[in-house]
Amino acid sequence: MRSPILDYLDTVITETAHVTSGAVADYIPELASAPTDRAAVALCTVNGVVYAAGDVDVDFSIQSMSKPFAYALALADRGIDDVVARVGVEPSGDAFNELSLDPETGTPRNPMINAGAIATHALIDTEDAPAVDRVLDYFSRMAQREIRIDEEVAASELATADRNLGLAYLLHSSGVLEAEPRAAVTGYIRQCAASVNVRDLALMAATLANNGVQPNTGERMLSRVENRQVLSVMAACGMYDAAGDWFTNVGIPAKSGVAGGIIGVLPGQVGLAVFSPRLDSHGNSARGVAMMEMLSEDMGLHLMDVGRPGRTSLRETQLATVEGVDATVYVLQGDLVLSSIEALIHEIVSNPPTTPLVVFDMGRVDEVLPVARRTSSAMATKLHDAGHRVVVIDPEETLTGFTDDQGRPVELWTAERLARGISR
Ligand code: GLN
Repeated sequence: MRSPILDYLDTVITETAHVTSGAVADYIPELASAPTDRAAVALCTVNGVVYAAGDVDVDFSIQSMSKPFAYALALADRGIDDVVARVGVEPSGDAFNELSLDPETGTPRNPMINAGAIATHALIDTEDAPAVDRVLDYFSRMAQREIRIDEEVAASELATADRNLGLAYLLHSSGVLEAEPRAAVTGYIRQCAASVNVRDLALMAATLANNGVQPNTGERMLSRVENRQVLSVMAACGMYDAAGDWFTNVGIPAKSGVAGGIIGVLPGQVGLAVFSPRLDSHGNSARGVAMMEMLSEDMGLHLMDVGRPGRTSLRETQLATVEGVDATVYVLQGDLVLSSIEALIHEIVSNPPTTPLVVFDMGRVDEVLPVARRTSSAMATKLHDAGHRVVVIDPEETLTGFTDDQGRPVELWTAERLARGISR
């Protein structure tokens, strides 16, 4: 049986076929000669299955979609603070190849524009492992196949690299770029010439959606905090001077490339990739943007779309006898996030338990965010201080070692122990 997801992706291709506006990038001769009528789309959820439609086997150069991944390597090498001191995180409002540095700091505004990407590329270049080898290996591990450079694209762009060279000399003179400018630009252009297809890109985007872990191999490619940093910078700066338009219409972190690709990431859910060579005036694929708008609308991907607010964690409050002691049992549910835990605390504060034993039954809780853990410790302190014994039913064993604010342990029981001990 053919997956309905594939049928849907086919309709994304057919229903955007009328978008023929834009023009291929002509400052790179090899891109200027690419066939313009191609289009492909791919999707990979955090479960790791890739669905693709259209010209799925056409390879094209990754171009600026390489930038978030080179940035990830820099973050892992040097830590976020060091990288942010050298390359900012502010949207520039300018075109991707603007010859500009932040007038206050003298540093590139962000790692998604060329100035920041050239500086970032130089940061990951080491004696033992040249930056180009490192990024190719990184792409390959995420795409689950060997990613190589399209030498024709690289040579073509190198031959017409005046603007990027200009940028690199500017960076060098301001002290941001220590490397020899020509070497940095050569490496950066080779990074951009890595040849990929939409399947590769969907897997790479899905790795970011999956919190930095490649969904099929299970390999951690970047830490949770680095992943968050990369996605935040993509959200703010990934679509250059169209960032606001993109975020209001499509609403997910993304990165475009001048060969016509765009990747998009819905955190925790899905990585998307589209390809179509003609570019709009911002240098983003015109039909690619149309495909992404359709995907976002149809599949409800917009991050700012407020779905189902997590109103309360408290499913019910029971009065019972547990192991012969009078108890108040709070039965919790869903994800313990700020809004839901606030509702629970409000209930306990305005209607304090009167029994010696207080039980929090977490049997139906899906996830405990750090904020919920901290707030629960503070709440447990107050209950302990008021003379209560506090028990938490922790079926997933996610709370091992849980204490109140004063370091007094909170008793952790299994669901079976509660079931055996309870009588109402
Ligand atoms: N290699 C291209 C350049 O430096 C990348 C630009 C892009 O994809 N937007 O101009």
